[in-house]
Amino acid sequence: MNFESVLHQARAEGRDLLNEVEAKQLLSQAGVPVVETLLATTADQAKRLAGEIGYPVVVKVVSADISHKSDVGGVKVGLANAEAVGEAYEAILANSRQAVPDAVITGVAVQGMAVEGTEIIVGMVRDPQFGPVMMFGLGGIFVELLKDVSFRVLPLTERDAQQMVNDIKGRAILDGVRGQTAVDKAAICKLILNVGVFIEQHPEIQELDMNPVFVYADGAVAVDARIVLSQA
Ligand code: ADP
Ligand code: MG
Repeated sequence: MNFESVLHQARAEGRDLLNEVEAKQLLSQAGVPVVETLLATTADQAKRLAGEIGYPVVVKVVSADISHKSDVGGVKVGLANAEAVGEAYEAILANSRQAVPDAVITGVAVQGMAVEGTEIIVGMVRDPQFGPVMMFGLGGIFVELLKDVSFRVLPLTERDAQQMVNDIKGRAILDGVRGQTAVDKAAICKLILNVGVFIEQHPEIQELDMNPVFVYADGAVAVDARIVLSQA
């Protein structure tokens, strides 16, 4: 699965949204660390893939008509065995159909359960004037309530990425407050730079966001990703 084949398939299906499985696979190929994520279209397949990935797993709805998966009851975390995966599969489908009755549901994404880390978000939007603009912020209330984010126009230098990370008001959280350990800022910068290169290689990408990425004392991993294509 490369960018061209994913693009071709999405265009053929008349959708602008790449699903989480596609988005993570492409990002992974671009050097962005993501949680291993596979698509299942039956409960049995979901169980089998969960076994391959290793428990605990997370299962989520995959649908171009549902962009906020947890809002519709489409995310189940911490599934410890095949039975739990089977139940989650049925519950997610039922919840999604109830919340968005005419949604086309592609299947479910089965993925490894990442150890909790400091939540950050990394995104890109195309500005009509400036072109692609990268965004960085802390996840959760920091972005939703406080709008504590930084922006840089592409292309990015290493220094740009470092400044983005240090520009936010909540940067103390990254440096480790109240006895918490500092997170791996170098891993964040590398992730931002690799996303930047990926965006520049693919002008068909209109919008991208990874919300959240978990950051640790050592390393980072995206647990959710979404890519929107420009209209064909
Ligand atoms: P939404 O479409 O609602 O944004 P997400 O994929 O972001 O759905 O999942 C909702 C929340 O579930 C995330 O913010 C994160 O806290 C948790 N989560 C999602 N995927 C994983 C994962 N693979 N490992 C651990 N936690 C996860
Ligand atoms: Mg999310």
